Amino acid sequence: MSEAHSGTSQKATLISVRDLAVHFPLRGSWFAEKHVLKAVDGVTLELKRGSFFGLVGESGSGKTTLGRALLKAAPISGGSAEFADGEVTYDIAELKGRELQDYRRRAQLIFQDPYASLSPRMTVRDIIAEPLEVMKLTSSRDETNERVREIAAKCRLNLEHLRRFPHAFSGGQRQRIAIARALVSNPGFVVADEAVAALDVSIQADVLNLLKGFQRDLGISFLFISHDLSVVAHICDHVAVMYLGRLVETAPTRKLFSKPRHPYTSALLSAIPSLDPDDRTGGQKLEGEIPSPTNPPPGCTFHTRCPFARDRCRTEEPHLRQLDDEHFGACHFAEEFDFTREHGG
Ligand code: SF4
Repeated sequence: MSEAHSGTSQKATLISVRDLAVHFPLRGSWFAEKHVLKAVDGVTLELKRGSFFGLVGESGSGKTTLGRALLKAAPISGGSAEFADGEVTYDIAELKGRELQDYRRRAQLIFQDPYASLSPRMTVRDIIAEPLEVMKLTSSRDETNERVREIAAKCRLNLEHLRRFPHAFSGGQRQRIAIARALVSNPGFVVADEAVAALDVSIQADVLNLLKGFQRDLGISFLFISHDLSVVAHICDHVAVMYLGRLVETAPTRKLFSKPRHPYTSALLSAIPSLDPDDRTGGQKLEGEIPSPTNPPPGCTFHTRCPFARDRCRTEEPHLRQLDDEHFGACHFAEEFDFTREHGG
């Protein structure tokens, strides 16, 4: 089994994932043949406490399913995911009853769409207070109100805002309400799934800085799921790249951006628009669609789109392996080719 690490080695591990699989059984409509959709397959990673861990890939790469599996919101069908925070250690796949309820307080989700995720019939106060009331985390209305005011202020919402309904707010303000709701139970782990993708670029930095402040000041660990590598470069300490349900590269952000060791990562980086109008470097462009996870290509699943592919790639699957300190990649030729050049040599 390959090993992957995230964050700096001095930090304690908050979530340890080993060979994790999320498979959904499907039944073929023509021949009643049983297929399996491997949304997540053999993922190994470690999320350090207080880190900002980026998870990137195209739509259909499995990153949202992986995030949901770590929140026990998608069924884990193989491998393990362990959460260790202070006095508690949980096997996420086995959580139920009171332990699951406790985990729900400790692990929260920020949704992508701040318009759809907030009930239009509830005041902002009631939206933020709801997790406290549902999970019975406070013993009186006064205590609930105090906690709501406290987290609202941290999200730059004032008392007047708490009395209004969501429709009175802009997209950025709504996302700050959604963040206050996610953080009101004082979680140590937050999955932010495309949390700024629906916002104007001018507002994205405001929300990103707010999240970064919570990491810095409260020590919250974020799993930041995004298709936008320029946003990930701005905010994440460590990045993992997913393709067809598997990790293909993981490294500290600076390393991954300066010297990608997988052609898929290099192609994603090439898609970031350059601010230099004379920049013609560009690297290789990503062509074609991501294959169906119900019928992934044999060998390296990226070989159908990889400009560096060789015969070996069509039959032999590359496993995630350590390339140097904290840098892991799943390519047979990670050491041989310069993936920032346009064609394999
Ligand atoms: Fe490309 Fe082969 Fe590396 Fe896969 S193993 S990424 S097909 S060069």
